[in-house]
Formats: sequence, structure tokens, C-alpha cells
Amino acid sequence: MTTEEFEAKYPLILGWIQNTIAEHAPQARSVASLGFKRLPQHFHRDVLETASVVYVSDVPAPPLGAIGLGQFSDFENMNGAGITYLDTIFSRQEMRGDESLHFHELVHVIQWRVLGPKGFVAAYADGLERIGYRQSPLEVMAYTLESVFRNSAAGFDVAAVVRQQLASLAGTS
Ligand SMILES: [Zn+2]
Repeated sequence: MTTEEFEAKYPLILGWIQNTIAEHAPQARSVASLGFKRLPQHFHRDVLETASVVYVSDVPAPPLGAIGLGQFSDFENMNGAGITYLDTIFSRQEMRGDESLHFHELVHVIQWRVLGPKGFVAAYADGLERIGYRQSPLEVMAYTLESVFRNSAAGFDVAAVVRQQLASLAGTS
């Protein structure tokens, strides 16, 4: 995607995101209210209180094909277990209670905050376009940290690690 193309499409993507969050706002609850035991050892309280979750039967994906971004059709049709837009996590109903899934999506919440909405969308789209969903840098970061979370009982400051990793990604690109 060229810079011009991104500049033209970004407002459409952000508008769709804002509408989607607004439509589901009545069903949103804070992550803090869910009572997960390990997340507070990994995220500051204000993150858990300000990030929210909406449980849905299918996670909403932006209509990328319809806005002329057909190269992302695999992503649009992926129907994953969870997806995060800004501070709002959309999770499939059956993932309720899955602390690792919520952890993974909270990594994305931190990425959205550190990069800002435009920086996040640009970096995410670039990764998808160049190397695909699973190898894209923002997903590799989320999956790698999720694996540490699953395999180690010790808590760590996820936001600090994410900030550090995003800074080194920016330095190498
Ligand atoms: Zn992810």
C-alpha cells in the first residue's frame, strides 16, 4: 500500500472502528471487572480498568474489500477468537474465562496506545501485507508474550516490554 493509498483509506478504517465500538458500548465491561487473577501481575490497574471487553458470536472485521483493500481479504475473513480496536477487545463468547486470550488482546491494547491509532493501523497493515498475519511484527510480539504468560508463573511489566520492543522495531525499519 502506498502512503497516498494509506492516507486515503485510514479515515474509513478509523471511522468503521469508532462506529463498531460505539455500537457495542452498551455490552462492554472493563477487563478489571472480570476477576482474572494473573492479569494484575502483568498489567497496571489503570490498563485493566480502562480496557474493555465485548463478547460476540463473531469478531467484527473491517470491510477492507469494500473499501478497496482486497489484498487483506484473508485477514477480513479470518474470524479469529479475538480482535482489539483501540481500548476495546472483541472476544468470541466461548473465550470467556480464557485468561491467555485476554492477555494477548491486552498486548494489542498497549500497542494501540504506544503507537497511537494511526501508527498502529499503519504498522499492522504493513506487517499483514509484507509477511502475513502470523509473522507480522505486532502479532509475533503478542504471541511471544502470550507464550511467556502461559509458561511462566512469574509476573512481568508487559507495557514496559511492549514499549521497548516497539522502540527497537522502529529503530530497525
Ligand atoms: Zn493478536
